[in-house]
Amino acid sequence: MYDILIKNGLYPDFQKMELIKGDIALTDGKIAAVGQISEDAKTVIDAEGRIVSPGFIDIHMHEENFATEGHEYFVANLMLQMGVTTALGGNCGDTRQDLKDFLTVLEELGGSPINYMMMSGYNSFRKQLGINRYDPSSPEQIETMIGRVKEELAQGAVGVSFGLEYDPGIPYDEVMKVLDAIPEDDLLVSTHFREDSMDGVNEMIKIAVESGKKFQISHLSSCAAIGFMNEALEAINEASKKNPKLNYDTYPYAAFSTRIGSAVFDEGWREKWNKSYEHIFMPAGKYANQFCTEETYWEMRNNDPDLYVVAMTMNEDEIAAAIANTESGMVASDGTVKAHAGHPRAAGTFPRVLGKYVREDKVISMIDALKKITLLPADRLGLSNKGRIAVGCDADLTIFDPETIADGATFEQLNIKPVGIDAVIVDGKIAINAGDIVNDRLGRFIPGPYVK
Ligand SMILES: [Zn+2]
Repeated sequence: MYDILIKNGLYPDFQKMELIKGDIALTDGKIAAVGQISEDAKTVIDAEGRIVSPGFIDIHMHEENFATEGHEYFVANLMLQMGVTTALGGNCGDTRQDLKDFLTVLEELGGSPINYMMMSGYNSFRKQLGINRYDPSSPEQIETMIGRVKEELAQGAVGVSFGLEYDPGIPYDEVMKVLDAIPEDDLLVSTHFREDSMDGVNEMIKIAVESGKKFQISHLSSCAAIGFMNEALEAINEASKKNPKLNYDTYPYAAFSTRIGSAVFDEGWREKWNKSYEHIFMPAGKYANQFCTEETYWEMRNNDPDLYVVAMTMNEDEIAAAIANTESGMVASDGTVKAHAGHPRAAGTFPRVLGKYVREDKVISMIDALKKITLLPADRLGLSNKGRIAVGCDADLTIFDPETIADGATFEQLNIKPVGIDAVIVDGKIAINAGDIVNDRLGRFIPGPYVK
C-alpha cells in the first residue's frame, strides 16, 4: 500500500524532453513507482488533464528577516502557494541574518513551508564590519570576511553571493581575493551585477571565467532588459561554452524592486534608464500603493531608505527573450518581502511563466519551461534527488492545470494566490490541497556539500 497515488497525470521526462502520461506512487517521502500502477494507496489523487511536475526550485529568492518581521513565515508561504518546494535564500550579497540564527529559528518553528538552502551573503559581512558601501575593504577586513564565509559554508551554506551594485566599493580584485581563498571549484557563486550595462555583464563573465567557479548571474533581466538583452544573451551563451559552469536566472516581470535608499538610486538613475520619479512605485510605507513624485521620492529616500520600491524600467520583449533562451538560463523569483508587502514576483513568478509565457504568449514550450524551474536548478544546487520524476527521487511535487495556471499577485496587492495549482507535495506529504495550505512544516534546511 502506497502513501499517495497520483493517477493519469502528465509528467515531464527530461531525457526524452516530452510529457508522458502515467501514474506516480509515493511512499516514505520518495517516489516509489512510476507508470501503470494498480496497487492501492492511502490517498489517491486524480490528475487527469493535469501536469505532475517536480516541485519548483527557486534558485534565487530572499528569505525572511526573523529579527525584524517576527518568528513566522510569510515569503516561504507565498513560495509554497506558487508551487515552490525548495528555495535558495541569501542572494545579492544580502543575508537577512547570520546562517546560524536563521537555522535556530527554523528549528524553533519545527520546520519550514519549503525546503531552504542558503548562500552566504558577502555584503552582509561588510555591513557588520561597518564598511562604507563606496569603499573597498582593507586586507585585514577581507581576511575576516573570508573567515566568515568559510564558517557559514561549514554550517551548511551552499555558496557565496555578492551584490556589486549595492556596494560599488567592492572592486573586482576583492571578489577574486575571496573566491581564490575558497579552494572548492564547485562552489556556487551568485552575483548581482555592478551596473546596468554590457560592462556589468562582461565583468560577471570575467569573474566566472577567471575564478572557474559555478557562477550564477543574478536576475539578468533587471540588468539587461533595458535595450541590450540580445547582446547580453549572446555573450553569456558564448562564454558558457568556455565555462559550462556559467549560468543566469531571470524573473518574468518588467519591473525590478529594491530599497529606495540603496546605491541603485544614486545620482544618474533617471538618465541610465530614461525613466523618472513617476516610474517608481511604493507598495508599502507612508505612500503605499502610489507612484513617486519628485517630493515623495526624496522624502522616502531620506527618511525610509529601507523601503522596497518597484521600478518600472524594463522592456517586455527582452524579458521574454531571457526566459525563452534554451541554451542557458533558469527562471527564479528574486522574491523579496518586507512587512507583508513587495513585488508580485514573490507570489506569482512560476505560475506566470507557465501561464503567460508558455500558454498565452508561446515564447517557450512547457517542457523547456519546466526544465528551467526544476531540473536545471536542482542540478545547479547538487540536488540529484530533486527536480526529476524517477523512482527513488524525493517526493516533492507540484500538480497543476496547464489550461488555467496563472499568477494572481499584482503590484498593488501581493497576497493574491495563483490559480490552477491543485496540490503541492513536500517530502511525500500534502502541503497544498486545492490551493490552500494544509501543512506548512514539511520543509527542512538542506545543507550544502561543505558542511562540517
Ligand atoms: Zn539582486
